[in-house]
Amino acid sequence: MGKVYLIGAGPGDYKLMTLKGLEHIRDAEVLVYDRLVSPRHLKEVPVDCELVYVGKASSNHTLPQEEINEILVKWAKMGKKVVRLKGGDPYVFGRGGEEGEFLVSHGIEVEVIPGITSAIGGLTFAGIPITHRRYASSFHVISAHLKNGLRELDWHSLAKLNGTLVFLMGARSLNEISSGLIKAKKPKATPVALIYSATMPRQHVDITTLAEMVRMEVKSPVLIVIGDVVNLRDKLSFFENKPLFGKNIVVTRARAQSTPLVDRLADLGANVIEVPTIKVVPLPDQQILKAELMQLANYQYLIFTSVNTVKIFFKVLAELGKDSRSLAPVKIVVIGKQTGKCLEEYGIKADFMPKLATLEGMVETLKSVLKSTDRILLPKAKMARMVLTDMLAGLFTEINLYETRIDTSSKNEILESLNNETIDYITFSSSSTVHNFVRLIGDEHFDKLHQAKLISLGPITSQAIKEVGLGVYKETKEPFIDAMVELLKESK
Ligand code: SAH
Repeated sequence: MGKVYLIGAGPGDYKLMTLKGLEHIRDAEVLVYDRLVSPRHLKEVPVDCELVYVGKASSNHTLPQEEINEILVKWAKMGKKVVRLKGGDPYVFGRGGEEGEFLVSHGIEVEVIPGITSAIGGLTFAGIPITHRRYASSFHVISAHLKNGLRELDWHSLAKLNGTLVFLMGARSLNEISSGLIKAKKPKATPVALIYSATMPRQHVDITTLAEMVRMEVKSPVLIVIGDVVNLRDKLSFFENKPLFGKNIVVTRARAQSTPLVDRLADLGANVIEVPTIKVVPLPDQQILKAELMQLANYQYLIFTSVNTVKIFFKVLAELGKDSRSLAPVKIVVIGKQTGKCLEEYGIKADFMPKLATLEGMVETLKSVLKSTDRILLPKAKMARMVLTDMLAGLFTEINLYETRIDTSSKNEILESLNNETIDYITFSSSSTVHNFVRLIGDEHFDKLHQAKLISLGPITSQAIKEVGLGVYKETKEPFIDAMVELLKESK
């Protein structure tokens, strides 16, 4: 029998989740999630984790609770470690209690990991402390979505409380809340904040009063905050004051490589739309590598051509029950700084690092030291090719560990962004991301790309942008992520 973890994902910003929750996600065999969960959490699951979506993308509907319950039971009965990720805290209007009860009644073990509820953390990011010695000595979190209608709420009791009132699920109940409290003698001028998409880059806050709130246009998800603490927002609104807050920036990179740039931009408050254009697909030749590793004594050199080759190589090595020590007899050549850094994480410093970070540069570096009896193991990406003189060609054993393919997984998301909001910037880090991105978008949507400002990492990328018929807004002087971040900060 498996086990189900009900985990609170926090209010929106994916980093507002507990370490414990993250640990379990990284170890999940099945992840069941809905709309209120950040796509960034999905990146954390193991590659072979089953992802089960139980909410509809285009509306607010989710699957009926009974079906979700059945899904959880089904996977747990298959012996899986199931993570059920829920927005905010699982027990704050999240039906976590019901799911837990159902599972337990089916004999399935359940563990619950709390999360930061939007009812507190969402206010924090809007610059509103939920209590304050001067303004609010208690707080009250209320569901505005009741089975039998809002009339059930005891407005008189609520109006008397000297605390902050927070209504969840209240997008359709502004009128009832306003009139209910005013009739119960809550002052009309009581400050009200409507917080949309709290803690997320699209966060938006409207300030109004109890009497005036009925005029506001609302959309979901929204937190309705009523009380004097709302006024503290003027002083405490750290999030919306970040330099890139409110900017929509598309980052096009291979998924595994995009994290540093995405993190930097998100930290500066940007809404980062990640569009991985390339995905890494492992190839069966990994078996050949295994065979060669069993007779590594045949080789004098081992070449690492990319971060991906390093990672896959060490995975294969580990599958053989071996580690870095078995590489001691061979000389190691590394192509590119990032590859070198990655290799160091496995405790290995390369013997050679060609100045020119290409296969040709590598040949140039090795030419003078190679002997005709030397054998070179070259695990690599399938499309990485090199032109070798016949003499050298004989020395190499090339193994295609993986290939990169166009990643269409985020096509809908990016099209939705292009249609619904103004994308401020699109960043390109290589000519292949340009070509793949344009292919991903498709000819029929190509024109929409003109609305965005394109930022390019160096002249070769810029050339590719021009070749596909688009204009470069700015180009970094140096091909580094830092330069990209600086450019974006200046451009605001
Ligand atoms: N368990 C969740 C609440 C689920 S009920 C929690 O603890 O936060 C869903 C309601 O939560 C939404 O209708 C909305 O009122 C509120 N909500 C959740 N996340 C929100 C966010 N990021 N911004 C604004 N409201 C949010």
